[in-house]
Amino acid sequence: MNNLNDERLKYLEKVKTIVVKVGSSTLTYNNGLLNLNHIEGLVRQLSDLHNMGYNVVLVSSGAIGAGMGKLGLQERPKTIPEKQAAAAVGQGILMHMYEKVFSEYGKTVGQILLTKEDMTDDIRKNNAHNTFSSLLEQRVIPIINENDAVVVDEIKVGDNDTLSAYVAQLVNAELLILMSDIDGLYNCDPRKNSDAKIISFIEEITEEIVACAGGAGSNLGTGGMATKINAAKIATASGISMVIINGENSKNLRDILNGINIGTWFKANL
Ligand code: GLU
Repeated sequence: MNNLNDERLKYLEKVKTIVVKVGSSTLTYNNGLLNLNHIEGLVRQLSDLHNMGYNVVLVSSGAIGAGMGKLGLQERPKTIPEKQAAAAVGQGILMHMYEKVFSEYGKTVGQILLTKEDMTDDIRKNNAHNTFSSLLEQRVIPIINENDAVVVDEIKVGDNDTLSAYVAQLVNAELLILMSDIDGLYNCDPRKNSDAKIISFIEEITEEIVACAGGAGSNLGTGGMATKINAAKIATASGISMVIINGENSKNLRDILNGINIGTWFKANL
């Protein structure tokens, strides 16, 4: 039974700008071809939130995956130029699909491909902030990814969980939603413990919480939880609440905005 959560409801009253991050596993199948069902559900829900008056920003992964599909690669490329080539092909495929489906709901989208310096260099940060402000003022839905075709491993953010937390800062969002392939953060590894339970509300990210996620720096915890905890630290420290929900069902987005107790909510440090 999914009850309403009073703390979430209270916070939601002031939410105007939402950043939604969607992972490759939600957007593409293992063979790299697009999961049209998920994309259409996602775009419909985002468009509906936009119609309700929210500013919506989408951080979308899936460029390398979609490029693999188009290039017929059976496994993820290993060399940097091959990954960059796959991203260059895949990013266009993703945007083509978003442009097409968002248009069906009368929405205008704009692509921004960021690099780490856009988040760390003050001048570039300010430029990016101004671009986002102008897009949001014109009711455009920005679609963000890292500029995978040009960045190399040493200088990239590397994962879109962290990237989305930086984006949430850049656009002064009040809420960051990570759509994952898992229902939320569990109190222990659900693959090993059948009685594992979702932690519904996290006041503070303690060492214990980090350990639940598979330990700091590990990307092998419960569904890549370490990068999500990292994102939660960045977001909550900037006064932005973050939620992890399952991307399988795009209606979860609406439920979150209605204050329903699904997923794991990380409370903003206000
Ligand atoms: N930027 C990568 C891509 O579009 C995804 C990074 C991530 O999955 O976190 O393929």
